[in-house]
Amino acid sequence: MIADQSPPTIVITSLAPGPRPPTTASSAWPNVLLTHVADVVARMGPPPWSKRIIADERQLVTLIASPPGGGNRPHWHRDFDEWWVVLDGVLEWELTGGTTLKAVKDDIVWVPRGTVHHIRNVGDRLSLRLAVAMPPAVHYASPCEQCGYTDDGPSEWCA
Ligand SMILES: [Zn+2]
Repeated sequence: MIADQSPPTIVITSLAPGPRPPTTASSAWPNVLLTHVADVVARMGPPPWSKRIIADERQLVTLIASPPGGGNRPHWHRDFDEWWVVLDGVLEWELTGGTTLKAVKDDIVWVPRGTVHHIRNVGDRLSLRLAVAMPPAVHYASPCEQCGYTDDGPSEWCA
């Protein structure tokens, strides 16, 4: 059962007064003006890991690396649809209702709110995916309907 049934609200407290240089850019993630994925991969080391690349009131963008056989903790979201861009490797999404998607580099996967998504690296090397979610990105853990998995990684992966 879901504890909080109220609809989410987004409050934007920092408004731009007009055109201006990118004053809110950071020198470290999140919100660096230019991110070379290879730099993140080199800095983070062996998988599994995740790195928040972009974060503001409306979006949470996370780069996620999984080793072969690794993946996420199956979960669903109440108030937003989530999508990913596969940057490397071979990943499989098991979804509520029996749909299974296999995606490779340059593929985009979209999953609507309410659908449990269990994501696994089914290839033989590291997988990379860029996950786009919306704050507060509350995760509701749920067993994978297809394989029964309930926990395949730290909950803070937010993916
Ligand atoms: Zn998710």
